[in-house]
Parts: sequence; structure tokens; C-alpha cells
Amino acid sequence: MATPQAAMPKGKLVVRNIGLLLSGDLDRPILDADTIVAVDGRIAAIGKAKDLDTGNATTVIDAKGTALAPGLIDSHVHPVFGDWTPRQNQLNWIDSFLHGGVTTMISAGEVHLPGRPRDVVGVKALAITAQRAFEAFRPSGVKVLAGAPVLEQGMVEEDFKELAAAGVKLLGEVGLGSVKAGDEAKRMVAWARKYGIQSTIHTGGPSIPGSGLIDKDVVLEADADVIGHINGGHTALPLDQILALCEKSRRAIEIVHNGNESAALYALRIAGQTGQLARVILGTDSPAGSGVQPLGILRMIAMLSSLGDVPAELAFCFATGNTARIRQLDCGLIEPGRAADFVFMDRAQHSAGRDLLDSVRKGDLPGIGMAVIDGVVRVGRSRNTPPADRVPEVVES
Ligand SMILES: [Zn+2]
Repeated sequence: MATPQAAMPKGKLVVRNIGLLLSGDLDRPILDADTIVAVDGRIAAIGKAKDLDTGNATTVIDAKGTALAPGLIDSHVHPVFGDWTPRQNQLNWIDSFLHGGVTTMISAGEVHLPGRPRDVVGVKALAITAQRAFEAFRPSGVKVLAGAPVLEQGMVEEDFKELAAAGVKLLGEVGLGSVKAGDEAKRMVAWARKYGIQSTIHTGGPSIPGSGLIDKDVVLEADADVIGHINGGHTALPLDQILALCEKSRRAIEIVHNGNESAALYALRIAGQTGQLARVILGTDSPAGSGVQPLGILRMIAMLSSLGDVPAELAFCFATGNTARIRQLDCGLIEPGRAADFVFMDRAQHSAGRDLLDSVRKGDLPGIGMAVIDGVVRVGRSRNTPPADRVPEVVES
């Protein structure tokens, strides 16, 4: 993961009085614990307060009975540089996502850069620069894994070797550049994989003028690690093609906010019926033509839970543990050794739901009360979500 060890904060964080502990793990989504201890930015222990060593803490958070989940991961964003997007000419959009519970973002290509280079040397230079820039600069503490080159014709195996050696770990969405044919994409995806670079493919109709159609045959042939926005971005493939992708591929099923919601629910249903919920991951696919959605991941969780008939505690796993495992991240799960990235939530005021999980299951968004990244409190009560019933508090620092 892109965390330079030197940047890891020192100290001991104790979080107590957790009312509901969501693990991010589909097999065991709720943990029987009320306390987490983190040391130097990593989870050290999880359990009941009386059983843990909570002394000598540098920071103590009283969760006040609220729910704690792993910080949310947006599997599909299109950053450019810093906390600015030219797509909707907006500043501080990443900070706004933190207020939506997102603590890690994964670039699917820095495609909105004005004048984005399309020659091979330029593509590589941009990817390496973006990787370096976001490793060195985390807007409001959010981890942005960027430097995701878009495949262009003329790239050879040596280019992937060179990118990997330079620290590039991701490909931008296959299909957004000049490589759109299955056989060509397959060759490059395989080179990327050989050197440890993970790949995502655009799925569906063109997103904006300049991008193209990628149908199920191209997706299956290219065999990228992530079936990017299986529900289209926005234009989805016909449902029989989405079914084929769920059945014939083993790769991640990524569902995005800026896609077709009907197709999203279809893909989720197929994944559920075939026992493949562990493949489901969530992204916003923003900034995009339809905007920038700070609450996009929460909205997806509430939408998939309420309309897709999935228990809320499982829907949270789609945006935490599933993504962490598929993307090989060190966050996203509440277990010892993982990054201490947390989001605190409670039922929004006046929700018809009886508690947090019931409110999400009924389609309401939770209220966020705090977000922690690498064991450090980054933000208190969210300025973007509806206000929560209860809000955690730093009681010792
Ligand atoms: Zn796309």
C-alpha cells in the first residue's frame, strides 16, 4: 500500500464504547467487541474493554454507542492532481468524500487531465508522476492510490516492466485509450499482471465523447482483474451480457454509483444467487459527467441493501473488506495488523429505521460522526451526511 512507513503516526489510540462493530468481512460481518486498540496507526487488538490493555493511550475516543466500520474504499475514481478535478471544475472534492466516510480511493485513470498525453512516453510519465504526487500528498489524509496509465496502442512488454519498477501498481480503465480490441487488451493486461500491475476494464457503452463500447466478448477476452462498472458508466450492456460476465469470469464485479442502477441491482442479484458476493466491490466512477458524489459509496450501500435485499452489514463489506482483499490493500477490515482506518456512524436523526442497520436496509443514509485514518482523527461530525443520533467524542488527547 502507498503508505510510506515514515509517515505512519506514532502513538496509541483506544476506541471504546463501540455500539456495533462492522468488520468488513462477509463471513463474519459483525464482531462481538466494544473496544479497539491501535498502535502506531495499525490495529493491535479488538475485544471487550475489560479484556484489553487500554492504558497509556495517546488518544481515547468514546464512540458513545455508535457503529464503527472500516473506512470506506472507493474502487473507482478519476483524480487528476491535488484536491482538484477539472471534470466539474471543483476544489476539495476528496475532502468532501472523507465526509462521506471514504478513507481510500483507487484511481481508474487520471483521464481528466487537460491535454492528457496519448503517446507512450507521455502516458508513462503521467502515470509515474501521478503515483508519486498522491503518495506524497494525501488530501485531508485520504489515501489516493493513483498513477493508473490508460493503455494506448504501441505499448510493449518493456513498458510495463518499466512502469512496475517505477512504482506503478494499477492500470487505468482499459478501453479509454486507443486499445479497444480484445486480443490487444488481453496481451497488455497479461504483461501488466506479469509485473504485478492490477487492471480494470471499462464495461459498457462510451462514457463521454472519445471513449468507446466495450462489450462482454472484449471484457472476457481481456480478462482484466476488475470488471470495471459492470453496470455501465452510465450505459450498461444488455442483461444477458452482464449475466455472462458474472458466470464466465472469476474477476471482480465492480458496481458504480455513476452507472445504470437497474443493471447494478441485476448484477448484485446474480452474484447473490450464485454465491459470489465476495466478488462485489463498489466505486463511484467520479468525478464524471454526472458529477462528484461525496456520499456516493454510502448511497450505493443503502441502495443495494434496500432495493437489492441485502443485509446492511453485508453491503458495507462490498465497500471495505471485499475491495481490500481483491485490491490487496492493508486496510478495509477490522483485524489486527490492518491500518486503523475507521468510520463512525449512527442512524440519521428521524430515520424510520430502528437502528443504523435497519435504517440503511430501509434506504436511508447513515450519519457520520467521525473518520480516522492511520489511527489519527481526520474529521468529526460530517458536514455532508444527515446528522446522526449520536456522535463520538475524543475524550483524551
Ligand atoms: Zn469507464
